[in-house]
Amino acid sequence: MSSIQQNLEHITSQIENAQQKCGRSRSSVQLLAVSKTKPVEAILEAAEAGQRAFGENYVQEGCDKVQFFAEHHPELNLEWHFIGPLQSNKTRLIAEHFDWMHTIDRAKIAQRLSEQRPAHLPPLQVLIQVNTSGEASKSGVSENDLFTLAELISGLPNLTLRGLMSIPENVPDYASQLAAFRQLAALKDQLAEKYDGIDTLSMGMSGDMAAAIEAGSTIVRIGTAIFGQRDYPHA
Ligand SMILES: *Cc1c(COP(=O)(O)O)cnc(C)c1O
Repeated sequence: MSSIQQNLEHITSQIENAQQKCGRSRSSVQLLAVSKTKPVEAILEAAEAGQRAFGENYVQEGCDKVQFFAEHHPELNLEWHFIGPLQSNKTRLIAEHFDWMHTIDRAKIAQRLSEQRPAHLPPLQVLIQVNTSGEASKSGVSENDLFTLAELISGLPNLTLRGLMSIPENVPDYASQLAAFRQLAALKDQLAEKYDGIDTLSMGMSGDMAAAIEAGSTIVRIGTAIFGQRDYPHA
């Protein structure tokens, strides 16, 4: 068994344990394998072990990988999530290649993605990135701006708003992690009262996955624990 396959099995059982502990059903949390900076061979190994959803952070690198698998391994039918920061002059590439976009934080990005989504593809599935910790250094909308942006997105023809994403402040204690994630879950519940189809919370990484799952995460984003350390510094 390859080490990537072993790592996937290990993470999957950690997710199942966390689900069981808080009484959630088995398949209620999706594992997103964050493959940024990793070669297509590593992704192929994960895919052959049954992993289907992959997350990428860098536009050109991500699009190259999407194209590679579309050409060489269409049978794997991989699902691609963009989870990095996006400049408005790069939206077309994301609209043309990805299935999901987790980090929408302003109107201009949303409008361009909708305009540039090719007609032969289904709507881009999108999440709004929320900055729950209020740190100036992190991207994401404030709670105040969230509902204005959601209203705009809900009117765009080629985007489907599915929920929220967050990268909370990195804190070691479980109670603080849980509090931050519950704040995000409450916002998602408010959003779901106003709009149909809101069913996704992208939250939880290696260090805070259990708290995220207890608070209602539906997608956890895990990189290093599957693929090993990243070697190049821009990661
Ligand atoms: C890189 C990244 C991850 C995964 O981080 P690891 O520490 O490698 O598990 C998750 N979410 C986002 C937004 C990332 O950029």
